[in-house]
Amino acid sequence: MSGCGCGCSSSGGGPFSKGKELVEFVYNAHGGTVRDQPISRGPIETECQGCGAVFVLETYVGKCGECGGVHAVAPMNPTAENVQFAGVGYTLP
Ligand SMILES: [Zn+2]
Repeated sequence: MSGCGCGCSSSGGGPFSKGKELVEFVYNAHGGTVRDQPISRGPIETECQGCGAVFVLETYVGKCGECGGVHAVAPMNPTAENVQFAGVGYTLP
């Protein structure tokens, strides 16, 4: 079983994936309509897991303002602890 709790399904990854897999899951969730939406509980201030800079993740998929590192958080549990980093050098498709 995978999915974000709304009944849709998506191949590969899931809301409990880590790292790049989670980033790609959120990026593709709901046909790509979730990634640009503001986080329901408000922006999350987090530390870039690539360069260590503090930045604010305002949408479910976002980039560090310093190094462009791609981060994402699962829509069902958007907290700072659950922010995942896609890895150094990763760029969105
Ligand atoms: Zn960074």
